[in-house]
Amino acid sequence: MEELDRRQFLRRAGGAALAASLAPTGFELVRASNASKRSDPRLRALARELRGPVYAPGSRGYERTHRIVNLRYAGVDPLGVAQPETVADVKACVRWGHRYGVRLVPRSGGHSYAGYSTGRGALQVDMRRMAAVRLDGASGTAAVGPGAQLMKVYLDLAAHGVTIPAGSCPTVGIGGLALGGGYGLASRRFGLTTDNVRRVGIVLADGRHVTASRGKHPDLFWACRGGGGGNFGIVTGFRFRVHSVHDATRFSISWPWDEAEAVVHAWQKWAPHAPDELDSILNLHTDTGSPHVHCVGQYFGSTRRLQSLLHPVTRVGTPSVSMRTQPYGDVQKWLAGCSGETPSQCLAYSPERFAAKSHYFRRPLSSSGRTAIVHAISRAQDLHRSGAVILDAYGGAINRVHPHDTAFVHRKELFSAQLYVSWGSHHAEHSTLKWLRDLHARLAPHASGFAYQNYIDPELASWQHAYYGSNWTRLVDVKRRYDPDDFFHFRQSIPPG
Ligand SMILES: Cc1cc2nc3c(=O)[nH]c(=O)nc-3n(C[C@H](O)[C@H](O)[C@H](O)COP(=O)(O)OP(=O)(O)OC[C@H]3O[C@@H](n4cnc5c(N)ncnc54)[C@H](O)[C@@H]3O)c2cc1C
Repeated sequence: MEELDRRQFLRRAGGAALAASLAPTGFELVRASNASKRSDPRLRALARELRGPVYAPGSRGYERTHRIVNLRYAGVDPLGVAQPETVADVKACVRWGHRYGVRLVPRSGGHSYAGYSTGRGALQVDMRRMAAVRLDGASGTAAVGPGAQLMKVYLDLAAHGVTIPAGSCPTVGIGGLALGGGYGLASRRFGLTTDNVRRVGIVLADGRHVTASRGKHPDLFWACRGGGGGNFGIVTGFRFRVHSVHDATRFSISWPWDEAEAVVHAWQKWAPHAPDELDSILNLHTDTGSPHVHCVGQYFGSTRRLQSLLHPVTRVGTPSVSMRTQPYGDVQKWLAGCSGETPSQCLAYSPERFAAKSHYFRRPLSSSGRTAIVHAISRAQDLHRSGAVILDAYGGAINRVHPHDTAFVHRKELFSAQLYVSWGSHHAEHSTLKWLRDLHARLAPHASGFAYQNYIDPELASWQHAYYGSNWTRLVDVKRRYDPDDFFHFRQSIPPG
């Protein structure tokens, strides 16, 4: 049976060859204090103030660090890259930005779809050296640095028998993920990543470092849970509530392509209403071969019980089903497509050129909506593109939070659909984006009008409503209070008024 998860899908789409250019930072990096005397004097001034390194264009460190995952933005060259190691370093970056009038762009995992963690002429504040994961068993919480990649978080916590809900891509940074929501295969049980944040340490536009929680700076705390990265300051650390977990059952179901429409029909009626312990993603995609439809998920329970819970979808067509109960860390590696790999192999980036859009759905897709998806994937195959429609089940703990309790407003949705496409050469861009836009437009009449802010889409017209809905006005108020001069800004950032 073909089991193709998203990471394998991305890897096969051609990014692996470039992974080396985004290798995690390490001993090969040049310390900023030793940087070339010919580099920008502003960067040399910054380097003198930081404990962590600063990289100027032309240095080896710059070449190894400044690119982000989406290769569409590979040609965007920041003025320099700073890698803070302490809160004091981050504060120094903000002071420096004001002194020289340079925009700062925070970067954690570098997975921003729209390239918002880099910027021409900006200082990229790369948080990957602030990536420690420390469990405090007594309080049932963990302190996590924003630069930690998800697989590191999973494995470090699983070693202590605990977890937080997060996404399935191993290399995504907890920084961007948690600030914009954070959906994963434990979310129907434990909520979104952001729902588990208890405190946020953040350096504000005025250079102060504050801790936001329910009791301190409650509006800022609210905004940092779903308002999206890059808007209110640079997060220097999270404290998360953790959940006990020892093992889980992971599963995969695949069907022949001609059963795809019937599978979507059954999945959408079942997945959002399954018990909280059961979470699943339905993936329709095409790569180099014929299109596939498969469902992956995890269940906090036995294989025996899972078999009967899966019946509403396994009774459709002629599925191939596999399932296995494993230690939690192993399940996360399997879901990430890196079973059998070392942690450092699993944490190697897979850059590629891609674009994505999303919709949320409050009603099951009608036959015309389902057919639109199936036809689009078949069409992508005809065009020789790697295209996918990935449906994430909501409901459960996600939807028990009131839409106004956090800045993440999407609490009434049955599922989201991510429309994702990647391509190799610039020549293919025009026809590939047309495929994506057409599919997005075809599904719009079936959707709720909202979209997921972590799948940030630079083309989305009414993004203010789509990402934030009735939370928009309060987000603008918080921005005005904490960053009245719009020091932290990008094309789709929340304005101060
Ligand atoms: C391959 C892939 C798989 C994905 N899988 C999932 C998934 O399973 N579930 C899910 O919910 N999402 C998923 N996403 C979407 C992901 O949540 C977003 O792209 C998220 O913003 C990535 O965070 P990052 O730290 O890696 O990205 P970055 O590009 O570093 O940051 C994203 C945004 O946050 C800002 N930011 C980063 N760090 C900080 C900080 N410390 N303080 C303030 N602002 C900051 C950046 O400036 C940027 O605007 C996936 C994305 C990709 C590319």
